[in-house]
Amino acid sequence: MIETMNALKLGILNGIIVFLLYLDLFLCYSIGRTLIKKDMNYLKGRDVIGSDIFSAGLCTLIGIASIPLLGPNIKEIQESCSAASDYFNIYHREPQMDLSQSVQRPPISQVQGRIEFHGVNFYYPSDPEQRLILNDLNITFEPGKKIALVGESGSGKSTAVNLIERLYDITGGKLLIDGIEIDKYDLEYLRSMIGYVHQEPVLFNRSIRENIIFGREEYLSSIGNIEELVKNACDESFSSEFINKLSEGLDYIVGIKGNKLSGGQKQRIAIARAILTKPKILILDEATSALDYLSEKEVQSALDNISLQNKTTMLHPLLNSKNINKTVSAKTRDITNISN
Ligand code: ADP
Ligand code: MG
Repeated sequence: MIETMNALKLGILNGIIVFLLYLDLFLCYSIGRTLIKKDMNYLKGRDVIGSDIFSAGLCTLIGIASIPLLGPNIKEIQESCSAASDYFNIYHREPQMDLSQSVQRPPISQVQGRIEFHGVNFYYPSDPEQRLILNDLNITFEPGKKIALVGESGSGKSTAVNLIERLYDITGGKLLIDGIEIDKYDLEYLRSMIGYVHQEPVLFNRSIRENIIFGREEYLSSIGNIEELVKNACDESFSSEFINKLSEGLDYIVGIKGNKLSGGQKQRIAIARAILTKPKILILDEATSALDYLSEKEVQSALDNISLQNKTTMLHPLLNSKNINKTVSAKTRDITNISN
């Protein structure tokens, strides 16, 4: 039954195409005949002649005959249109933040990375009930320290670190980096001094090297030798250990979403990407919580190594504090700030 239906649809489509082909020839020659007969001067500078009609007929014929070839590709065309529309929507979106005062770009060598939350209140602008996610949050993160932010799921840990990146503006209170209010920093500059590693690293189906430097080629070549920076970042994040064992080395293609690497290896590459530009603040949002015990230990030792090598303020939102020994309680209901 289905085959009969398909044959019927195919027959109808072929019928329409053949009809259009003959209609095209009919229109072309009948209109062309009139143009020639009346000496119409449609083409600038000269009259229409027989070969013009012939070329027009042939071109439209080829066009119509190609219509059925579109069929198998329509799905791809639809998908690329929808992907492109997402891209253009994001590209043309105007941030709602007021950036007129956001101009400060202190020399990066002077940035220390002290982060202070003073009575910070925050609710998500999309929340109609204006539920306070952070209620009078007071914490100071000292520069160069490795700090865990511990609290139950939904207590606002990720929200707090997102505010440091100024993904949202705070609703009340003050949020300072090195004593300067966060909204006074140039937005691009602010984000360039922060490295961010997510629980599920996003890797592209390209080489390890490309995944580490993606999108920052120009900036990197202005601060040093790209190969050297990549090598240092791999060494510090302990990625070199497994990269050196691969015959392709940094040219190894990681597969779709990095599926040719283990969870720990993916996470170490994400860390290498985050520390490549030597950010003054490194945020690791539950970077180890999706890993098994061994991978977690690998990533944890990479993080310890980074905090030894660089003067970086490292924030690590976590669900529990099993690897951390010293506890300092912060003046907030849900979040506990633990540092070592
Ligand atoms: P945690 O990281 O501590 O698990 P989050 O900071 O992700 O918690 O979330 C804190 C609260 O904020 C949750 O109640 C969550 O529902 C809410 N929330 C998170 N993101 C958004 C958002 N984009 N819009 C509205 N509410 C959100
Ligand atoms: Mg979170």
